Amino acid sequence: MIIPVRCITCGRVIGDKWQPYKDYLSQGKTAKEALDILGIKSYCCRTAFLSQVDLLEDISKHKKA
Ligand SMILES: [Zn+2]
Repeated sequence: MIIPVRCITCGRVIGDKWQPYKDYLSQGKTAKEALDILGIKSYCCRTAFLSQVDLLEDISKHKKA
């Protein structure tokens, strides 16, 4: 769904970095490079990004009118 605003493990704010992360990936950077550029160093926060599946657009197609 939507990435959590804060890391579930350590509580750091990560929600604001999701869009820049996706932008870096679309520019051809690897996930490691994108996370390094954004300064996300702890593995709990990195896991939140790497395991995130963005389903919002798929789900919104099935929204009841
Ligand atoms: Zn964390």
